[in-house]
Parts: sequence; C-alpha cells; structure tokens
Amino acid sequence: AAMVKEAIRVFARVKPLGRRQQAGSYSVDDEEEPLPSLEITVPRDLADGFINNKRESYKFKFQKIFDQESKQDVVFDSIAKPVAECVLAGYNGTIFAYGQTGSGKTFTITGGAERYSDRGIIPRTLSYIFDQLQKDSSKVYTTHVSYLEIYNECGYDLLDPRHEASRLEDLPKVMIMEDSDQNIHLKNLSLQQATNEEEALNLLFLGDTNRMIAETPMNQASSRSHCIFTIHLSSKEPGSATLRRSKLHLVDLAGSERVAKTGIGGHLLTEAKYINLSLHYLEQVIIALAEKNRSHIPYRNSMMTSVLRDSLGGNCMTTMIATLAIDKRNIDESISTCKFAQRVALIKNEAVLNEEIDPRLMIVHLKKEIQDLKDELALVTGKQRTSELSQEELLQLDELIETFLKDNDPDSTLDVGADMRKIKYCFIHMKQIMNCPMTSDKKLLLQDTSEERDSNKEAGEELEKLKGLLQQRDNEINILVNMLKKEKKKARDAFFQLNATSAGSTVLEQSPSIKLEESQSSSRCFNLKEAKDFSSSVHRLPFLSREKGGKMSFGCQEAFEVFKWDHADSITIEDNKQLLKQRFDEAKCLGEKLNEVRNKINHLKGKITQRQIQRAALAVSNPSEELTFDPVEENLRMQIEEEKKSYKRVYNHFKGLKVEIEHLQLLTEKVNMKLQKEFVVWWSEEAKNLQQEKPEMVTSPNTVTVYPQFIKSSQHLSTNSFSETTRDSPNEDPAAKNSITFNNPTLKTRTPPSLSTSIPLTGDSQADADILAFIKARQNILQKKGKSCQ
Ligand code: ADP
Ligand code: MG
Repeated sequence: AAMVKEAIRVFARVKPLGRRQQAGSYSVDDEEEPLPSLEITVPRDLADGFINNKRESYKFKFQKIFDQESKQDVVFDSIAKPVAECVLAGYNGTIFAYGQTGSGKTFTITGGAERYSDRGIIPRTLSYIFDQLQKDSSKVYTTHVSYLEIYNECGYDLLDPRHEASRLEDLPKVMIMEDSDQNIHLKNLSLQQATNEEEALNLLFLGDTNRMIAETPMNQASSRSHCIFTIHLSSKEPGSATLRRSKLHLVDLAGSERVAKTGIGGHLLTEAKYINLSLHYLEQVIIALAEKNRSHIPYRNSMMTSVLRDSLGGNCMTTMIATLAIDKRNIDESISTCKFAQRVALIKNEAVLNEEIDPRLMIVHLKKEIQDLKDELALVTGKQRTSELSQEELLQLDELIETFLKDNDPDSTLDVGADMRKIKYCFIHMKQIMNCPMTSDKKLLLQDTSEERDSNKEAGEELEKLKGLLQQRDNEINILVNMLKKEKKKARDAFFQLNATSAGSTVLEQSPSIKLEESQSSSRCFNLKEAKDFSSSVHRLPFLSREKGGKMSFGCQEAFEVFKWDHADSITIEDNKQLLKQRFDEAKCLGEKLNEVRNKINHLKGKITQRQIQRAALAVSNPSEELTFDPVEENLRMQIEEEKKSYKRVYNHFKGLKVEIEHLQLLTEKVNMKLQKEFVVWWSEEAKNLQQEKPEMVTSPNTVTVYPQFIKSSQHLSTNSFSETTRDSPNEDPAAKNSITFNNPTLKTRTPPSLSTSIPLTGDSQADADILAFIKARQNILQKKGKSCQ
C-alpha cells in the first residue's frame, strides 16, 4: 500500500487582541528559511520579576504562522484543505488545536457563532468534502460522523439523542476497546450517517449544543474537555471489492494552561502543571515519540492519547495548530504552547493508504462476474451453458478422442473448443485409457464420469470375460496342434496297415445330377462350383503334389507325401519310370535310324535318276547305241531294296517300342491311382475318426445332415489291365449305413455298372473339397486312359 512518511505539520495562529488587552512583544518572519519563525520576547517588566532580571526572547519555527488578522477561509485553505484531500484519497488525517483556554481553539476548529464567515475548519471541511464527493462520480462514497467528548477520562457521545434529557453523568460512557491487532474501537460512540453537507452540519450543531447543555459553571466542560469530531469516509469503485476507509479527526483539545505554582516568597515559578491530566500524558507521548529508539509509547495512559494513537506517530497525516493569545499576561502560556509545538514537529508519521478487500463484496462481485461471463458465453456460442455436459456432447467427445488416438499423424490435434468442461472431460477420459489399456475402447466410450465406479466395475467384468475367451482359444489351439501331430503320426502308421489290407481303387464319375444337400444354405457344406474350380486347377498331373498346391489343405498335402513316400507301389512306379526312359531313348534312336534309312533310300533314288538322265543324253548324242541293261542302275536298285528292308525292320522295332511305352505308362498310371485311392480311403477314415475323438470341434448342426455323405458313381474300364481296380473298396465305416447310394442314370457304360463304390464326405468343407478334387482329377486321367487304350 502507498505510504507517506512525513513529520507532523505544525501551524501557529495568533488570536486578535481584545479591546482591553495589552499587546505582548512578538514578531513574525514569514520569509525566514527554511520555515517561518515566530519570535516571542519576554517583556522587561515581567522579566524584572525574575532573579537575573534578564530580558529573554524565544524563536519558534512553524509551517506557517497565521497572525491576528488571518481569516477563517485562509486558515482552512492552508491547514485543513490539504488534509481533507488526503482523507479523500484514503489516508487518515488529524487536525488538532492546542492552546490555552480562550486562545481560539474552538474558534479555529468549529468557528464563531455570529458570522457565517467565522465558520471554522469543521464546517468548511464538511462543505469541501461533500463538494468533492459530488464532483467525483467514479466512486461510491459513504460518509458518517461521530462526535466524542472526553471529560475526566470519560468518553461521551455528543450525538446521542438522550443528551437533552439526561445529565452527562447518566449517559452511557464511551469505552475504548482494543482488538488482537491493537486496533482501537470505541464502544457506545455512534456513527451517524451524513449523506450531504446539511445533514453533517446538523449533527455538528447537535453535538455542540449537547456540549453547551452539559456545561455548567461548575464543570467548565468547554475548557477542561477534549472534543473529537470525526468524519468517517469510505469509498469504492463500482464493481470493485476494494474498499477504502479513512477518518478525519478534528480535535479541539482542552485548555493547555497550567497551574502556576507560587513559590516561597510569592515568586511565580516557571514550573507549572497541566490542569488537565490527559494533556500531561499527551506531552509524555509526544516526548517519547520525539526521542529516537524509544520502543514504548505510553498511549494507554489516557483515553485521549489512546483515541489519537494513530494520529500521533502512526498511520495518519497529522496537523497541529498552536493557538496563541499573545497578550502581555499570557506570554508564559504562549511560550509553553510553542515549546510543545516544537516537540510535536519532530514527530514523524507513516500514513498508509487504507485499502481492504471486502469478502462479502468480493463474493457478490465474483458471482456477478460469473453470471456476466455465462451470459456472454451463451451469447457467443448460442447455447445456454450448464455445469454438466449432455449425454450427446459426451458421445461426441468420445468419438473425437477415439479419432485423435487412432490418428498416426504426429501433428494431429484434439480440438474440443474453448470449453473447460470438455477439456477436463478429455483429460479424465485419457487418464482412464492410460489406467486400463486392456479394456476395450468401446467400453470406455460408454463411460460416464458420474458413473465412474459402475463403469470401472463393468470394465473389470469385461476384462475377465475376455481373459476367459483367450484361455478358451488357447485350449482350442492346443487341441488343434495335438491333432496335427496325431495326423502326421497316423499318416505314417497308415502305410503299413493299408499296405497289408491293400484297399482297391475307387472308380467313379461325377454326374451333373449329383446333388449335395444344403449346398446352398450351409457355409460348412461342400460347394459344387468350388469343387469344379478346384478340380480344374489340380487335374494337371501330378495330382495332390505339393508343388501344384491347389486348394488342398496343408495337412492333406503333407499326409499324401508321407503316404506316398512310404508306399511299396512307389517303387514300382519308379521302376516303370526308369524303363519308360530307356524305351523312350531306344525309340528316339530308332526314329533317328529310320530317318537315316529314308534319307539313304532317297539318295539312292536320286542317283538312279541321275544315271538315267546321263544315259538318255548319251542316246541323243549317239543314236546308234541302243538302250540296253545298265549294271550301275541295277546295283543302285539293289541297294535301295536293302535299305527298304532295313527300314521295315527298324520301323517294326520302333512300333513295338511304342506299344511297350504306352503299356508302361498305363502301368505307372495304374499304380498311381491305386496309391491315391488308398490314400483317400485312409484320409476320409482319419477325418471321421478325428470328429469322433473331438466331437466339440463339430459345432454346426448342419454337419449332421451333411456328414457322412456318400457319393456313388461308376466308370467303365476298357482294358483288363485295370480289372484289379474294379472291386469294391472295403468300407468298414460304421457311418456308411447312412450313405446315399445311387446309380447314375445318365451314365453311358460299355461295361456293367458293377464298378461302383462309395466315397465318404467328412462334413469338413476343406477335406471334402480335397477328396472331391481328387475324384475329379482321377476321373479325367481315367477318361484319357480310356481313350488312349481304345
Ligand atoms: P478556546 O476555545 O481556545 O477556549 P475560543 O475559540 O472560545 O477559545 O475563543 C475565545 C474567544 O475569542 C471567542 O469569543 C472567539 O470568538 C474569539 N476568537 C478566538 N479566535 C478568534 C479569531 N481568530 N478572530 C476573531 N475572534 C476570535
Ligand atoms: Mg474552546
């Protein structure tokens, strides 16, 4: 807070001389630097009374000296107006008049009763302050006045309306109260509000009247009591909670005259005592304050010093007016007053700007500001702002957060607008995501902050559910892995079993009339079109090879490779392959030899033609010579005949080789078919066994009607070499009794349809596809074979 540190300003005012008063010897020097001076000279006749008979003069410094002719308005302007300004600014101020009775204290502070121009500092200050308040519309002011009289250490409220009816002694005493911060409070002193100059002046007159009523010749209240008229001012700027409070004390002290002690021998002693004890204490306080490093100031010794504590050496702009009645008889008192004034002038005060925050005002102010801001926001956003976000807004925020979190762009931002509620919600939501990353986003998105506990519980349940699902999936994977291992083992074992039983080949022809139940409705059901696509992709041999892949499942492929590897027939196939290679090579040689022989024959034919041309030319040139037998030509013809024999011999050999090769090819094909048939039988059997072992894996009820399903077909065989494949494959499948067996009516067979067999479908679309693809592929081979063997 602003602080003004300055000494108490001390003025002097000299009362005009009365008509019969003898002037004292004094001089005023207004020009003296640094301060004007008042020199008082002790008159010679008075000085004669003293022992040393010495003429004395005293010089005193004052802020300003108002001589006898000084008028009230000038005194006000010079002394009171600056203090009033400070009070209006929020500082405390005190103006007190000190002097002997009759020196003009009351005249200066309150004024003379006869003329308007004699108005003193109080009415002029009131007038000035209310004038200033009216001019200043930037602040709201409140004005109160109090009027305290202190008589014999008792305080009286001069504004108490009971004054008229009661004796001073019967009125409630004003008590000094001190709070924990050592602030002085006056109990029973009324603060009367004065909204204007007139009201304030009425209160002043009321107090003065009460004072006069109480005054009797016996108590001489006017000279023995102190009067403190206080203007209480508070101000604040509109809309601000900062309150400024200031007080202006206008103090009319009791007469400072002392009781002169008459010394032995009738001599007047210079030592005198205050009539009013409280002034003695006032002087003690002043002396203490003037001394440096004095820690204890005896304010509490009197009520007057207690009340004026802030005005003396405290938070106040204080001004003293020393009133002097410098007639010849009052020189001593005047000198005493001036001496007192000089001490007071040494006191430095620290005036502090009295600002305080009114909590009630602050709350009211903040509430209003909040409402204003809400209104403003509603105006700008077009929406009435409530403390809670709506369910709709929360869902929108959830979407924004989700989008933001999924955005890989490092520059992406989450913009929810300038709404603290939304920003706070986003942070809470992020925290939730951070704290439970295992919980699905969906769960979080539906969370409401107000139902956090319930949602967390739900999230926990969801977590447990998912953990359970995960465990279930783990178990299922383990089962599948075991199955795969078992399948591999069985694939190896199966070779020996099947080798012993030597299952026959299945020969069938797929008919367009074959209808697979639920082929259209069930996803697990075998799809005919799929089978066709598949078979077309695998009918290129070698069938079921890993290299060709196709749509055969990995397990099936691997199983077939193992199966084939271990099968004895594969040796036959390999032998046949070797033999075929030999025969092909032989045939190739024979082919080359045939070409060679043909070329030789053609060459010999050419030679014969040449010989005949030569002979003809000779006959033309030599007509006498007759065309007789040519031994050369005959020789050439013989050679041609020999070559032709050779050609026929080689050609027959070649033709024989071709038959053998074709036969070998058929044999290889046959063994291959047998191997595949055995595999298919074994595979379908394994598939069925797996389903029986792991019934939980078959979850679709459709498979009951689909599995097991048997397709019977037939295929003619034109060569006896395939006769061993025509017997029905032994089918010990217990599910076979459910099979659908039918004869294809469209089948054009040249052999009786005795070569029928049943192929079980597993109900597994992949396995079924594999099997049917195999069937289709083999069918193509057999058809080709049939043609080639015709
Ligand atoms: P105090 O209050 O100090 O006892 P007062 O103010 O009552 O003295 O003054 C005593 C008398 O002197 C009053 O009648 C008052 O009108 C008159 N008086 C005092 N000072 C002046 C002055 N400056 N000009 C004219 N009259 C004055
Ligand atoms: Mg007086």
